[in-house]
Amino acid sequence: MTAKSFHPPVRTLMGPGPSDVSPRVLEAMARPTIGHLDPAFVGMMDDVKGMLQYAFQTKNELTMPVSAPGSAGMETCFVNLVEPGDKVIVCQNGVFGGRMKENVERCGATPIMVMDDWGKPVDPNKVEDALKTHHDAKLVAFVHAETSTGAQSDAQTLVKLAHDHDCLTIVDAVTSLGGTPLKVDEWEIDAIYSGTQKCLSCVPGISPVSFGPRAVERIKNRQSKVQSWFMDMNLVMGYWGGGAKRAYHHTAPINTLYAFHESLVMLQEEGLENAWARHAHNHQALKAGVEAMGLQFVVDEAYRLPQLNSVTIPEGVDEAAVRAELLNRYSLEIGAGLGALAGKIWRIGLMGSTSNQKNVLNCLGALDAVLS
Ligand code: PLP
Repeated sequence: MTAKSFHPPVRTLMGPGPSDVSPRVLEAMARPTIGHLDPAFVGMMDDVKGMLQYAFQTKNELTMPVSAPGSAGMETCFVNLVEPGDKVIVCQNGVFGGRMKENVERCGATPIMVMDDWGKPVDPNKVEDALKTHHDAKLVAFVHAETSTGAQSDAQTLVKLAHDHDCLTIVDAVTSLGGTPLKVDEWEIDAIYSGTQKCLSCVPGISPVSFGPRAVERIKNRQSKVQSWFMDMNLVMGYWGGGAKRAYHHTAPINTLYAFHESLVMLQEEGLENAWARHAHNHQALKAGVEAMGLQFVVDEAYRLPQLNSVTIPEGVDEAAVRAELLNRYSLEIGAGLGALAGKIWRIGLMGSTSNQKNVLNCLGALDAVLS
């Protein structure tokens, strides 16, 4: 068989990620590949770090993109901060809390699960009960923006609770970074990871992480080696944190980092607060149309994510056929339900550059045509 060059169809990506990538970001990615220790590249890395600190609203020195997708950022936080025998309080209100549990177990530690219904935020009262019961817990881990449901949890309150009980925190911000308010330093988050393919509208494949002073201290004072060589922050920092003295650790995904750099430049140009406001505004427009069609949101407005809109599939509707028709007739992708909500909901993403007025109107028009 002789394969030909692959030319993907042009889609509008209104699912749970990836979101639409701006031509500016794609163009940046097509620039010439240079060496990962080339002084020009190293200068660009410093820019990336500075802009990432802005996106996360942090001065944390240990702020960098892990060279792999969001799941690797999650794993980086867990393998560096969890040691065999530790107890970790893991909050689960959707798919991704379940993955945190897996990570804890694979680190040889014990997860203490705090469960909430899918579509609800993490309940701080339950977390407090768990902290009071398990005095020896070392960490609290939770998902800020649960992509499988569209619910947002109160990160600031949860971090404060954890600190009141001498626990550090790991926060999943894969879907929140760039889309809803997130303030790493003000909220005193200890370790956080995100993705590039959601509200930052970059190509997938990089996972920004940031570690605060308490987390760095814990990593330095570990009793055991970090179980993953690739994700061991002590080693990665020689490359990302080395300043002029950067040393080879792994070959960075050079062109993907050009793309990431450009998406961060775009975020800076727009301004973080303006990006949050745009996501909130376009959600309101989508909400008006979705409700006018008689569709119901899964998540209460008080803690609904503007960038991830979960709607209940109406009685008697073949949800997969609707998604297929949207894709085939309108080249429009929306997301299916995941885990416990598979077959029950659609997930309409308004993330990053996808979050604009034209997409809201097109999506409402297409959905109305397919459903009538
Ligand atoms: N955490 C959350 C909340 C996510 O939404 C995702 C991906 O959708 C991940 C983690 C994993 O990220 P990735 O698919 O980039 O590995």
